[in-house]
Amino acid sequence: MKLCRFNGDRLGLVEGDKVLDVSAAVEALPAVRWPVPLGDPLVKHLEQLLPAVQRARAGARTLPLAEVRLSSPLTNPSKVMAAPANYRLHVELDTKDAGVDQGVHRKALEGVERPTEKYGLFLKATSAIAGPAEGVQVILPDRRTDHELELAVVIGKAGHSIPREKAMDHVAGYCIGLDMTVRGSEDRSFRKSADSYTVLGPWFVTADEIPDPHALQMSLWVNGERRQHSSTGAMTIDIPDLIAIASSMYTLYPGDVILTGTPEGVGPVVPGDVVKVGCEGIGEMTFAVTAHA
Ligand code: MN
Repeated sequence: MKLCRFNGDRLGLVEGDKVLDVSAAVEALPAVRWPVPLGDPLVKHLEQLLPAVQRARAGARTLPLAEVRLSSPLTNPSKVMAAPANYRLHVELDTKDAGVDQGVHRKALEGVERPTEKYGLFLKATSAIAGPAEGVQVILPDRRTDHELELAVVIGKAGHSIPREKAMDHVAGYCIGLDMTVRGSEDRSFRKSADSYTVLGPWFVTADEIPDPHALQMSLWVNGERRQHSSTGAMTIDIPDLIAIASSMYTLYPGDVILTGTPEGVGPVVPGDVVKVGCEGIGEMTFAVTAHA
């Protein structure tokens, strides 16, 4: 099932080139009041939600997908984690660019076969989440903002110290993630956390639709020019190990996002650019790059 948030806060079921307005299903989610529990309510209550979506489907208003404004399907993850340098060719090729390397990355990654095991995951502020409708607002016009196309894994079941063998049981689904990045010397958590620097979309795809998340072709184009194109199979630390590493440190909550690293081909975007991304099994989305107001 593909669930989207569209035209403000409508809940949509995506089928082909149509969106069915199943907002009535949101009634299946419990009302929340202080203290709000950690986790994304949509993903946390997926078991109750999905049957309600099926019920709402009958008689739902149908809209052409091309005419709706898509926001991030996730609204309240407790954290967005991300794997550094998790594609070998990204490390080998992209860090030859001084603007990417910043005099630190090549040195830090030399001889390191599995960077995430050595350096762990980093966190991005949850306030950085945006959808394709909002797009990316470049925060520092005098500095480089780069695109990093990534597969976003969405946690469904809470857990700590999750063993590799059980890790996939904790995955609720997937979306495409953009780990937008200001290049520079600051800590990753700072440079990658500007508002709109985590684009999630175009929708949330439940895990049953993606039998092998390590065999998805994904691509990114800027103004029609293809810049990134790779299989998720090229990731160095795979999803079960990323979940094991992450949960060895902190509890994973429903809706938490793991950005699994970017393949080769990262590069700058500037206001006026139009970015299109696609991932097999998930879909495509296009968003605009504008200047921060
Ligand atoms: Mn990244």
